[in-house]
Amino acid sequence: MSTTTPQKFEFQAEIAQLLDIVTHSIYTEKEIFVRELVSNASDALEKLRHIQLTEKDLFDDQQKLEINITSDDQAKTLTIQDFGIGMTREELVENLGTIAHSGSKAFLKALSEGEQKNTSLIGQFGVGFYSAFMVAKSVKVYSHSRHAAAPGHVWTSTGAGTYEIEETEGLSRGSKIVIELKDECAEFSTESRIKEILERYSAFVSFPINLNGKHINTVQALWLRSKNEIKDEEYNEFYKFQSHAFEDPSLRLHFSADAPLAINALLFVPQENTEKLGFARLEPSVALYCRKVLIDAAPKDLLPEWLRFLKGVVDCEDLPLNLSRESMQDKSLLEKLGKVITKRFLKFLDEEATQRPEAFVKFYAEFGIFLKEGAAMDYTHKDQLVKLLRFESSLTEKTKATSLADYVSRMGADQKEIYYLVGANRATIESGPYLEAFKARNLEVLFCYEPVDEYVMNNVREFDGKKLLAADHGDVKLSDIPKPEGALSEDDTKKLTTWLKETLGERVAEVKASDRLVDSPALAINADKFMSAHMRRMMKAMNKDGADLPQKVNLEINPRSAVMKRLFETHTASPDKAKLVAEQILDNALISAGMLEDATPMVARLYKLLESV
Ligand code: ADP
Ligand code: MG
Repeated sequence: MSTTTPQKFEFQAEIAQLLDIVTHSIYTEKEIFVRELVSNASDALEKLRHIQLTEKDLFDDQQKLEINITSDDQAKTLTIQDFGIGMTREELVENLGTIAHSGSKAFLKALSEGEQKNTSLIGQFGVGFYSAFMVAKSVKVYSHSRHAAAPGHVWTSTGAGTYEIEETEGLSRGSKIVIELKDECAEFSTESRIKEILERYSAFVSFPINLNGKHINTVQALWLRSKNEIKDEEYNEFYKFQSHAFEDPSLRLHFSADAPLAINALLFVPQENTEKLGFARLEPSVALYCRKVLIDAAPKDLLPEWLRFLKGVVDCEDLPLNLSRESMQDKSLLEKLGKVITKRFLKFLDEEATQRPEAFVKFYAEFGIFLKEGAAMDYTHKDQLVKLLRFESSLTEKTKATSLADYVSRMGADQKEIYYLVGANRATIESGPYLEAFKARNLEVLFCYEPVDEYVMNNVREFDGKKLLAADHGDVKLSDIPKPEGALSEDDTKKLTTWLKETLGERVAEVKASDRLVDSPALAINADKFMSAHMRRMMKAMNKDGADLPQKVNLEINPRSAVMKRLFETHTASPDKAKLVAEQILDNALISAGMLEDATPMVARLYKLLESV
């Protein structure tokens, strides 16, 4: 196919939509497009530097690895050129015409979810290459890939639905982006304005940048400098540049170590957990360097999965430059490095928790879910992680949380286990029937509000040698406390439980008198050893097999409650009515336990009961 005549392409629908928003955006900080394009140029150079380690005969290989920027205020253009890996024709189509990259994808997802803050989202996600269209009448991308045999091309677009690609000669390796500025954006063709923008973050670009022939940045690595020389703003700007972030980080850890490995690390926690907002699962993004040279911008095997919210840089002098994930030696080195960093970061969080509790509480509200994931799945760091977990409890005030260590410090001499209850919120747990027995015995119960908590507690299993036990679990054995006067006799209680079992039939596995109940008439206990009520609900929600097997429920009744005493009288005097009441008591208990699966029979039954009032 001859490619010397320009060929026209349509942008993928999502890109067209994105461009439409970007071109018409009234976002005021348009200058971020410079950051995005320089960062792409720097990425392209990093990639080339990496390839140079293994590939020979690269096209135009004498070019310096640098970025050249030219502003022309007469022509109202801005040009950003790099000598990086460049793009072939296919890569131009793939990379600049379809949506494959992270920032823009997340941006579109946010839009489709009805986020109205369109303009600020542009800043937050960067929208990468396409941000050029905020300021451009037209954009030309001249590009020649590293392969000598592949020809060079120019990609052209005004951002309105289509772009063109044409073969062209005489290009150097890499990409040259020429932006013809909109009249109202002409400021970006003046040298002083571009210089001012570049100075803010170009210090973090690890390649020389020249503006109109003048070298403007000294390449330096912030993480190698001494902590007390670095200003907060420098840290923040670096974070924003490196993670394409819009806001300052919420936490920062800068440390170095000499043994067992020589490490300089600079880690950041963002303000927000975007996974919680419903965006895509985060990808690990702490970059790995060796003596200032980037080895991998997003190493998958460095840190444990649950640390995927961390940003920043780890520089380790002991790594080989051409680190390979396949080589066993490199793998174990990477693992060792990951462990040192994880341990150090966990120690830092522990210090934050005691020294700056407000900051820790804020961190925990956003990122606590990752600590829970780690506590449940990462055996290596489990102990350190469990210490950081926080829960409300029957003894804390609303919204104040306690650590497991504090819970243990409050335990009485004869308490052997740590109790918890899972429920949607504090009110649900406090009004349920399970807590009262623990309250009556002065036993503290942790309150777990998140769906994952049950899984986490089951996996963590114990803390400080004490078993974690769900307070609504069949296995919980509670000490005797003096029984209040006026209960049904043991004989009568026996008669009532036998009658209840007969009356409720298959709906209950067992009915017995309870030692847990103080005020409530009855409670339901899930009798399925293998599936808790919460698990059952989750499986139902996910339509998993096994969720529609009959539930196994034990009903425990309170022989001291007025309802039971009355039921005992009615069950002989007026058996039909008593049957309706028994069914209703069971349903009530199931509702409190979050186990009622079908509420419809209840309506007809309640009307019947109301008739007899
Ligand atoms: P991101 O940088 O997050 O991947 P961008 O929208 O900034 O997203 O860029 C899209 C893609 O276009 C990049 O992933 C890269 O493959 C390609 N690209 C952009 N600029 C350049 C460049 N200067 N040299 C080589 N490839 C580039
Ligand atoms: Mg980019």
